[in-house]
Amino acid sequence: MNRKPELIVCVGTAPKDKEAAIRDACRRLAEAGCVDERYAESMLKREQTANTFLGAGIAIPHGDLADKGRVKRDGLAVLQVPRSVPWGNAQNARLIVAIAAAGDGHLAMLRRLTGIVQDEALVEKLCATADAAEIKAALLSDKLDAAPAAAPATDFSVVAEWTVDYPAGLHARPALAWTEFAKATKTPLKVRRGDAVANPRQLVSLLHLGVKFGEKLVVSADGDRAALTEFIAQIASLTARERADSARTAVKKKNVAAQPAWTPPDATESFSGVAASPGLAVGEIFHFDAVEIKVADQPGSLEKSGAELEAAINQAKAQLTALVDKATRQIGAGDAAIFKAHIGVLTDPEVIAECCRHLVAGHGAAWSWHRAIEFVASSLEHADNPLLAARAADIRDAGRRVLTVLEPDLAAAAPVLPDRPVILVARDLSPSATAGLDARRVSALALAAGSATSHTAILARTLGIPAVVAAGRDWLRAPNGETVIIDGDAGWLYRRPSAVAITAAREEIARRESVRAERATRRALPAVTSDGKKIIAAANINTPDQAPLALEMGAEGVGLMRTEFLFLERADIPDENEQFITYCQMANALGGRPLIVRALDIGGDKQVPQLHLPREDNPFLGVRGARLLLRRPDLFAPQMRALYRAAASGAALSVMFPMITDLAELTELRERCEHIRRELAAPAVPLGIMIEVPAAAVLAATFAETADFFSIGTNDLTQYTLSMDRQNPELAASADSFHPAVLRLIKQTVDGAAARKRPVGVCGGLAGTPSGAAILAGLGVSELSMTPRDLPEVKEVIRSRPMTEFVALAHRCLAATAPEQVREWAGECVKSR
Ligand code: PEP
Ligand code: MG
Repeated sequence: MNRKPELIVCVGTAPKDKEAAIRDACRRLAEAGCVDERYAESMLKREQTANTFLGAGIAIPHGDLADKGRVKRDGLAVLQVPRSVPWGNAQNARLIVAIAAAGDGHLAMLRRLTGIVQDEALVEKLCATADAAEIKAALLSDKLDAAPAAAPATDFSVVAEWTVDYPAGLHARPALAWTEFAKATKTPLKVRRGDAVANPRQLVSLLHLGVKFGEKLVVSADGDRAALTEFIAQIASLTARERADSARTAVKKKNVAAQPAWTPPDATESFSGVAASPGLAVGEIFHFDAVEIKVADQPGSLEKSGAELEAAINQAKAQLTALVDKATRQIGAGDAAIFKAHIGVLTDPEVIAECCRHLVAGHGAAWSWHRAIEFVASSLEHADNPLLAARAADIRDAGRRVLTVLEPDLAAAAPVLPDRPVILVARDLSPSATAGLDARRVSALALAAGSATSHTAILARTLGIPAVVAAGRDWLRAPNGETVIIDGDAGWLYRRPSAVAITAAREEIARRESVRAERATRRALPAVTSDGKKIIAAANINTPDQAPLALEMGAEGVGLMRTEFLFLERADIPDENEQFITYCQMANALGGRPLIVRALDIGGDKQVPQLHLPREDNPFLGVRGARLLLRRPDLFAPQMRALYRAAASGAALSVMFPMITDLAELTELRERCEHIRRELAAPAVPLGIMIEVPAAAVLAATFAETADFFSIGTNDLTQYTLSMDRQNPELAASADSFHPAVLRLIKQTVDGAAARKRPVGVCGGLAGTPSGAAILAGLGVSELSMTPRDLPEVKEVIRSRPMTEFVALAHRCLAATAPEQVREWAGECVKSR
């Protein structure tokens, strides 16, 4: 039985159908002494109930377990069918690998086969070669065996380099987006890191690369430069979001505990871990360790096990889809995407192929699935990369969902939380379990393992549950019911605290709570100058899930919703209905507060690859913003229809057009809007313009006749006024919105609007700085809209002085000769509050 399996390869065959192919392969196995002739009947019988198509044109016919007696020794007969043969279910087989499995000698080759399935280029090569030795070599290749997810380190003909600028590296969420981008193109693509290559259509294959921030990747496409450029543009479009997320969830990346801001007043047994979610908590321990999974093998027929597994995967996918939906509402789309990535795991070819390997060998569905998940997860875990280890937890979590469908007892054995609040102690916790936690019943998480970058830690931060991870095994000795103190800010855990320490911790928690409540109250106060002039303080947000934070920071509405973000980070274009739902959700999330939606501002720095726009030499001076809207009614009309429908459903919204330069543009856009409005019998909505081009600022009085309001985009206004590319790092310090030339254009805008009493807001970056806000208020701007986190301080600045002082400051700054002077004067005014 330990003999090497026989490997027979025939190239260039042309069987007339599937049956002929199976009989031919079986005859060859019989000639080699692997089976007796009648084994073909067993293979054909099996084909009637099971689909032996593995994927990528490869089929693996094999006999029934009951007929194992007819197998004499391990062997594989490979028929290459260059013109393909139908294999049922609209699939065509080009490599038919007939299996005679006596022992497990064929498994290594099958495993290699699962590696081959993932490498489109290699499959193509093997299906076309006239050399049987090439197919043999691939099936015997150690490279594939050692790294089933990675193909040999070659690139396609067209190559580009891309340096990963996602702060958390290529983790599951962006990797899933990559697979969607890659699947949207027909061109085969590869991603290479050093000598490891991944197929970007496959999630696990990408995760296997273990790509960290700053690493260089070689991305290649099979002969198609445009597809490669588009793919790179798509993956680069994720950067902004990844950076924002990383800033939001930034934690101290450290392996030792930081100097704590709070320490117990007396000597207390302490453990250091890694701070994963801020907050101090006192409470009783509750051990929440998931039951160890033991899955017994219940061998069955491939068809039965395959059907069971397919049903379980579908059920798990449905559960995850519902969870994505629930999590989107509870914790926001960003974090909910964690579970979208879990759906990707369930359909990942590496996992499926690995599982098929066990099913084909006659093992039961649950056992095969468990083994496949463990195989993939542990291969990630053993890579020298903590990010990958964190992703192994995601793979196991997703896999466990399928297991609990197959083996409901596993779900029943999960621990149930007590009704009173507890400190949850476990070795580690899965993202699913964390997302399901009721923050009212869990005062803190204290985990022996895990990392600050795991999805569990991210979710704990979003849920506002203090957490310490990587506290070490000894921490697990603390028994159920013991009172402990957890410091999630510094990563410390305190056991057996004295009554004095407990009281001190509770007092500190109460003190922090009252500081938090005081800040929240102040944030909610309006931005009214000390002599009673109100400035509207609004937020720049793009998606409904960002609204709760904006409101918490004191936003009185949204002054800029950049709708092009609905088009970025995806491979397709949101249709009218999807946009309508998003605008309604945004309006609902704001609870009736005003919402200014900006019509699509595509072009310049905001490229949307799926629109296939022509390349421009100077995109900032090209067809962007309103210029594109006028040329692309296919984009403009669905968006305006969605907005008018939202207005008709009660959304309190206004719309503004970006990059307006000429009055004729505004007149034309207004006419088109009116046409759509009448078609829908929708209410009128205020239609404003962004002042971003100096021409619009100079002609503000003219525009005021036709525009209902102005919103100044100081980011673009600065770059166009100073002729400095806003993205050029070399010019970053000089492209200064405090430049007196920019301020004078703002003044001109405010004056131009005054004659028709049109409100003027500022939604560019200048509005979110304390000095800028002070000057803008003095220039007569009535609304300041900014990143939510800037709101509390800007509101404080406005409240700190009378309007007369801001007006005096603004006048002084208008006469300045350089931005440095403006900064200095405004800085003094703001500091002296
Ligand atoms: C601006 O230009 O100031 C602005 C708010 O628009 P964006 O930054 O989206 O171009
Ligand atoms: Mg702009």
